[in-house]
Amino acid sequence: MQLRSVLHRRLSGEHGEFVYLANSAAILRLDAATAAVLDAFDAADGLDSAAWLNAQPEPGRAETTLHDLIDLGAIRPLGEAEPPRPKLPPMPFPLATLVLNVTNKCNLSCSYCYEYGEDKVGDGVGSSGGKARMDDQTARQSIDFLLRSSGARDQVSITFFGGETLLNFDAIRAATEYAEQQSAGFGKRVHYSLTTNATLLTDEIVDFLTRHRFGITVSIDGDRDEQDRHRTFKSGKGSFDVVEPRIRHLLATNKERRGRSIGARVTVTAGATPVVDTFRYLTEELGFDEVGFAPVTAALGRSYGLGEQGYERLLREFGELAEHYVAAALRDETHGFANLGDLLRELHQGVQKAHPCGAGLGLLGVSTEGELGLCHRFVESKSHAVGTVQAGVDEQKRSAFLEQAHVDNKTDCTQCFARPLCAGGCYHEAHVRYGDATRANVHYCEWIRGFVDLGLSCYARIQAANPRFLTRFEAQ
Ligand code: SF4
Ligand code: SF4
Repeated sequence: MQLRSVLHRRLSGEHGEFVYLANSAAILRLDAATAAVLDAFDAADGLDSAAWLNAQPEPGRAETTLHDLIDLGAIRPLGEAEPPRPKLPPMPFPLATLVLNVTNKCNLSCSYCYEYGEDKVGDGVGSSGGKARMDDQTARQSIDFLLRSSGARDQVSITFFGGETLLNFDAIRAATEYAEQQSAGFGKRVHYSLTTNATLLTDEIVDFLTRHRFGITVSIDGDRDEQDRHRTFKSGKGSFDVVEPRIRHLLATNKERRGRSIGARVTVTAGATPVVDTFRYLTEELGFDEVGFAPVTAALGRSYGLGEQGYERLLREFGELAEHYVAAALRDETHGFANLGDLLRELHQGVQKAHPCGAGLGLLGVSTEGELGLCHRFVESKSHAVGTVQAGVDEQKRSAFLEQAHVDNKTDCTQCFARPLCAGGCYHEAHVRYGDATRANVHYCEWIRGFVDLGLSCYARIQAANPRFLTRFEAQ
């Protein structure tokens, strides 16, 4: 019988032999003999198993190893179809997170912003008439919608987003206080989080956010030079001097109150952002608990967008920072490189995505008017609207989108080992790049595959030297 190894990624090095199986998202540690068998069957037209066995010096042992690999799903009959996967989970899918865009205005004018720049997906004033701020009533209706749409989940999350979120602190306070009152009646616990540029953090706001144990993400690009390169006020003045003291106060108060970890989100643009130095500045000098780096979203031809060389440089710098992460992990210490921590979590949990993220599934965005979008980045786009918080989800529209966006419909992704983790990538990126949210983001495949490779090798090194570290990633 012609047999062939399934789509996989092999890793060998100081950590030993590992394989990542794309059809099951399993990571297996192999002994040298098993690794050799897997490699032998990794030919496009497979290998005749009987002929191969006859040629082995110890056919009995070889047969046992081969059957072990078949049992693990790593080797299969050539041409045998994968078992079909359901197009959708049972619908209506219970909501876990609702992202409230409490304002579509911002007091900064960052040159790369998808919300205000040329890459905005909506019409700029709100597709249903255009309110700049969400009113308290819509904020409360959003909470009611989340509580009644979350099925049997006993924990739900509300995330506040903008524009600059704190331009509408009234709606944040109204929604939070209302959620506190209402959630007990539903037997649910509510978690809160917020993204801010930190320019408007006052003592009162810091007190409120830390008292309610908000998970806070601050958009900041690094030290004064990095921050002021793109993150400017409308006058052109950099924002560093305004945000720095406010961030210090937030971090100190949160630490005092033993709040949840506070993260920095850095937007990586062409020709800027030294990753390792920026990480060190934000964690050691400012005191953030973790830092995530996000390549800027940009349509083709934008000067600030990362080209091929930009992605290569970013990957090299991620590799450097990953060394620090692994060294900490081997000492059993946490490290705040959020991108790698998130990837290791997904690898450890064997995540296998049919859709790239929760948008449209467990997560929806709400516009200032109460219109529901796939996520916070789509709330101003009529063509991606899937209902309103008042009337509920348009289940037909939601399902139609999700069926079309399923990774099995992305032919570019069928032979990609990173498919279980990437599933074609962010819908918003795809919409900006190709005008179609359901397309695969093939412009950054090399970057994604390179980063997954980096994650796999870090995982293997930690697994080989300090497996106990990885238990922190076990699903609760
Ligand atoms: S978009 Fe590219 S990297 Fe992502 S799964 Fe598809 S082929 Fe792989
Ligand atoms: S579509 Fe993109 S921006 Fe929206 S939740 Fe998914 S990954 Fe995030």
